[in-house]
Amino acid sequence: MKWPNNKLLIIISLALLLSGCNIQINDTAPVAENQTNNTVSEQPVSSETRIHYLDVGQGDAVLVQSAGQNMLIDAGDNSHGQQVVDYLEAMGVEQLDIIVGTHPHADHIGGMDTVLQAFPVKAVYMPRISHTSASFRDVLNAIEEQNLKINTARAGTILPLTGVKAEILAPVKDNYEDLNNYSAVIRIVCGKRAFLFMGDAEKEAEADLLATGTDLKADVLKVGHHGSNSSTSEPFLSSVKPQYAIIMLGADNPYGHPHTETLKRLNRSGIKILRTDLNGTIIITTDGNSLQIETDR
Ligand SMILES: [Zn+2]
Repeated sequence: MKWPNNKLLIIISLALLLSGCNIQINDTAPVAENQTNNTVSEQPVSSETRIHYLDVGQGDAVLVQSAGQNMLIDAGDNSHGQQVVDYLEAMGVEQLDIIVGTHPHADHIGGMDTVLQAFPVKAVYMPRISHTSASFRDVLNAIEEQNLKINTARAGTILPLTGVKAEILAPVKDNYEDLNNYSAVIRIVCGKRAFLFMGDAEKEAEADLLATGTDLKADVLKVGHHGSNSSTSEPFLSSVKPQYAIIMLGADNPYGHPHTETLKRLNRSGIKILRTDLNGTIIITTDGNSLQIETDR
């Protein structure tokens, strides 16, 4: 795996997190989040997990790299498909072991046909829910062209990603009215660190997830539905207890995302917020202990 050469390395120390200070930029060397922990530089690169939250405007695209394997969660909208492909190539990705389409909305799966045409893909996971849009049809066609079948993303599915435990926690039901609530929710555990990816799951899906009693705790929460007030309820946040919240959205989007109420709930809990509209692409690297955070800006 390559490290980006010309990016500023941004380290958010635990002290800064607790004090709620602004992000500090450090353009010299990576420093562990916990200053007393010097194990990061001694770890071979292959033991690290890197998660890239791509700035694809109003939409989601997340690359997870673990033990030489690559998983893509969503691929942005149609107009960002090539940008996702270019980014993956720049990161040295030659094959995707797993692609997850969290749900069939265009801001998540729109660019997926372009990605499917650009890389060999081993496995595709999507919830069992259809959509009549041209974007979704294009993705189904691209999946068929690659002779792939769709594995159903549902609660309890373990994703075959080595080096970590990657599990699909939702959808837990199959009778939602709102397509967003079918979102594949993924929790990745790497050593002592956990990452939760909510897709566009809303409060109803969060409540169902809480009712299962499954462990939701995560250091980093990819906030549901671009920071909409329809997601990220108080009870849900209390169970996840994240240190960092990542909101993926476009600047000046027509939905008013992120909604003020959501930001208030996150701030009240002392959670550090990172946003792709403000910070650009966000990369988090962990060896299972420390977290290193890099952003474009
Ligand atoms: Zn969305």
